[in-house]
Amino acid sequence: ADAEGYDFVDHGTACRLVRPRDRRAHKGSFGHCLVVAGSTGKTGAAAMAANSAVRAGSGLVTLAVPERLNAILEMKTTEAMTLPLPDGGAGRLVQDSAPALLEAIGGKSAVALGPGISWHLDTARLIRHLVTKIETPLVIDADGLNALSEDPAILQRKRSNCIVLTPHPGEMARLTGTSTAIIEADRIAAAREFAEQNGVYMILKGARTVIAAPDGRVAINGSGNPGMASGGMGDVLTGILASLLGQGYEPFDACRLGVFIHGHAADLVAADKGEIGMSAVDVQERLPWAFKTLT
Ligand code: AMP
Ligand code: MG
Repeated sequence: ADAEGYDFVDHGTACRLVRPRDRRAHKGSFGHCLVVAGSTGKTGAAAMAANSAVRAGSGLVTLAVPERLNAILEMKTTEAMTLPLPDGGAGRLVQDSAPALLEAIGGKSAVALGPGISWHLDTARLIRHLVTKIETPLVIDADGLNALSEDPAILQRKRSNCIVLTPHPGEMARLTGTSTAIIEADRIAAAREFAEQNGVYMILKGARTVIAAPDGRVAINGSGNPGMASGGMGDVLTGILASLLGQGYEPFDACRLGVFIHGHAADLVAADKGEIGMSAVDVQERLPWAFKTLT
């Protein structure tokens, strides 16, 4: 850490963090991560999070979705399996989805919660219930964060000792009950304080993403470019982070490597086709090459 008390995450850092594959490895060596995501109109978020977990090296990926959307997500995923959950025909997860979901979470090595999951009241209640039940490493993003914003104190009742939150500044403002301007005025302080007070890993996204650990450590990411300012980029990051946690990376390492590799893949896309018109799936599909530069 430098004088300001934070580390910079660059290519050299990522090279030190990434773990080469054992020659005798099998799919059981790289975890089974569960992505809980999707609602009518937002199947893309679910697919990108699951497919990005595959591209970040998970041994197995399961995508838990409202049963009404299962056929669509079967089409949008190939390597990932889907798990249709009771949705009462709503096309979004509801409180009745909880028992099957909690059963599926048993035995998984990490869970991602939130991409495209919808903001409806009972979906939000389901999310808060899950936070008090899930014991595995957990990444919460998007509408998962908005559900927490209704009652951030729920984090004091969390079961998992590894919860990673990935807000953009707008979601961070909602989570802390302030404005985006105040968050942006001191991004490091905002992330560090929330992480320390709530015992979570906080990834505050945007140009120069801030990564804060519950013990006060802070790192700033050096990769990425404005081509990433388009829909779906955050869903790709969520899948990467759940994948790395599921592979057994220590949480602060998973956060730093995940955020770096996400931006680095986008930098490789930009070097190839430029920043304008880059899409989140472009970044998702470039992840293997990004990892290849680390080894
Ligand atoms: P979301 O807003 O959830 O879709 O997430 C957007 C993702 O793209 C985050 O990981 C941001 O850090 C990244 N991103 C967006 N704009 C930029 C930028 N100008 N420079 C670097 N990364 C960016
Ligand atoms: Mg997002």
